[in-house]
Amino acid sequence: MILLTDDYWEVKDAGKRGRGVYAKKDILPGAIIGDYLGKVIRTAEEDTYEKDGHLYLMYYHDRASLYPVDVKAAGVHLINHSCAPNTWMYTYKGHTLFFALRHIFKGEELTASYLLSPLDEFCDPCTHTCHCGAPNCNHSMHMSKERYDRWDTFNDEEAARTKKARVRYGYPLAKLSSYPKSIPDDPIYTLSGSLEKPPLVMRDDTLPSLKEIRKIIRDTGRAIEFPLLNKKVLGVADGELIFF
Ligand SMILES: [Zn+2]
Ligand SMILES: [Zn+2]
Repeated sequence: MILLTDDYWEVKDAGKRGRGVYAKKDILPGAIIGDYLGKVIRTAEEDTYEKDGHLYLMYYHDRASLYPVDVKAAGVHLINHSCAPNTWMYTYKGHTLFFALRHIFKGEELTASYLLSPLDEFCDPCTHTCHCGAPNCNHSMHMSKERYDRWDTFNDEEAARTKKARVRYGYPLAKLSSYPKSIPDDPIYTLSGSLEKPPLVMRDDTLPSLKEIRKIIRDTGRAIEFPLLNKKVLGVADGELIFF
């Protein structure tokens, strides 16, 4: 379910990617976008749900996944994958919340990294090719083993901070009685400025620290151009700058 009020978002045709969720107003960094309130199904039953090539299943725990109660209804399951996403997932009370990684501009499509586990023999033939067009696109929605392990450890720690609500197989998760106001930034998230807006121009003659760069991109939503250094920084991923 999308938790932003209706005036903030709309579902539109996203071309080859099917439908997508678009911002109708600027969204503040850290803002909660929605909660994946699917029906709880056993992992063993996954194949009976996902057979049309869509990627709606959401990992819940090792033996359970979530599947939208109504795939046609608007929800965070319509957020498409990108290698330079503007939202990320946050585990809270066992729920997967989507939040704004940075300032999101009116008109932008909301995107998320699907954080798929490393490609293995079970994903064959793999249909998770990425065509997001971002300068750092790695052409697959699967993460490398190293990245995935790091993310998994981080996410487990995050998830352990709040108590998981009880769930029943075959029933959807219930909306929580309250949600965090805002999610803080963390270096584990891939952060990148908007590719639809001109970069911010900074006349520094040395690059600011990664921490400062993250803060600027998160607050302004823009990539940064350093004309004196002849560099354009799209964002930060895995402790390194993404140039474009
Ligand atoms: Zn695959
Ligand atoms: Zn991509």
